[in-house]
Amino acid sequence: MYWQIEQLSDAEDKSMEDKHMLMIPGPTPVPEKVLLAMAKHTIGHRSPEFSQIMEEVTENLKWLHQTNNDVLIVTASGTGAMEAGIINFLSPGDRVLVGSNGKFGDRWAKISKAYGLEVDTIAAEWGQPLDTEEFRTKLEADTEKQIKAVIVTHSETSTGVLNDLETINRHVKEHGECLIIVDAVTSLGAVNVPIDEWGLDVVASGSQKGYMIPPGLGFVSVSPKAWAAYENCTMPRFYFDLGQYRKSAQKNTTPFTPPVNLIFALQVALQMMKEEGLENIFARHSRLTKATRDAIKALGLPLLAPDECASTAVTAVAPTNVEAEQIRKVMKKHFDIALAGGQDHLKGKIFRIGHLGFVSDRDILTTISSLEITLQQLGYQNPAPKKVVKAASKPLILT
Ligand SMILES: *Cc1c(COP(=O)(O)O)cnc(C)c1O
Repeated sequence: MYWQIEQLSDAEDKSMEDKHMLMIPGPTPVPEKVLLAMAKHTIGHRSPEFSQIMEEVTENLKWLHQTNNDVLIVTASGTGAMEAGIINFLSPGDRVLVGSNGKFGDRWAKISKAYGLEVDTIAAEWGQPLDTEEFRTKLEADTEKQIKAVIVTHSETSTGVLNDLETINRHVKEHGECLIIVDAVTSLGAVNVPIDEWGLDVVASGSQKGYMIPPGLGFVSVSPKAWAAYENCTMPRFYFDLGQYRKSAQKNTTPFTPPVNLIFALQVALQMMKEEGLENIFARHSRLTKATRDAIKALGLPLLAPDECASTAVTAVAPTNVEAEQIRKVMKKHFDIALAGGQDHLKGKIFRIGHLGFVSDRDILTTISSLEITLQQLGYQNPAPKKVVKAASKPLILT
């Protein structure tokens, strides 16, 4: 007997409200320790107590970013951090090369255009990685050094594709002059992004992704080369003038009132991350990714992104014979598990499983087994019954 979706009770109505499970690529689940830190009384942001916390989080942010560069905190979502990363280092009319193979790549092209930059896009189909050769060709052809920055999304959350940032960055370095500005919103804390080793100039991220804290903070790491560009940049700016943030950070403070309780959360989350260790964090994310992808394959559902460029933050699935939105509805209604849908032209065509941040082996097994039952209830013919959870558990148990 199949379930009638209409007959499933709304999870929101149940007394089990705390069982809500976020399996989306942001906002991501928040650990209890972090939630409790936020419940503390707010303190003044000009107090010595607050400065002490700022000093600690600034140090730990550099650790997480694997850099000695400044890592500045802005009150904004990830988009604000990216906008800050663009408007502080470029001037109207500057030519930029923007990689676009999903919703977020498109967004950086839009922001760049909004600020009067001359945008040249390198596009790829959604679900496919950016072609690094196209970057090489365009950068090599730029003998006049007109290109001022290359802007790329490392992990394209809308499709679950991890772009080959290392290679693109190598071509940027061969060009010699232009900056590399990176959206690392769902790659930082999920996969290796060695900022100093690669020489990444501007790297933006946001709190509700790999950081395991709620939305509201943006982070921008800035290299000395980017600061040199800052000196000549004529873009109008005020709230997001990163020079002010740098000046304040040197005194362990912020130019404007920060969301103090989110900084408490950040302090605890970074301590947790340090305790786990970068290598372990990356290993956990790749293990969860493999488990998810293996299970989806066992279910016989097509993955949107190929294995070679799979994001370790999110897996996009393009189901055939079952409606993606029906799957999401049942998962939410019956199991109280939130999955993400598709964006723009992929709306209704895919669903996305987030495995970013505070996510464990158990969360994947729960999601996969619930998904298997959901598909079965929706009448999907599972090609490998009994093998799906096994496929998911293999990478988890063997590592
Ligand atoms: C979430 C996300 C952002 C930022 O989005 P906000 O809603 O502004 O936080 C940017 N880039 C990518 C790749 C993301 O996943």
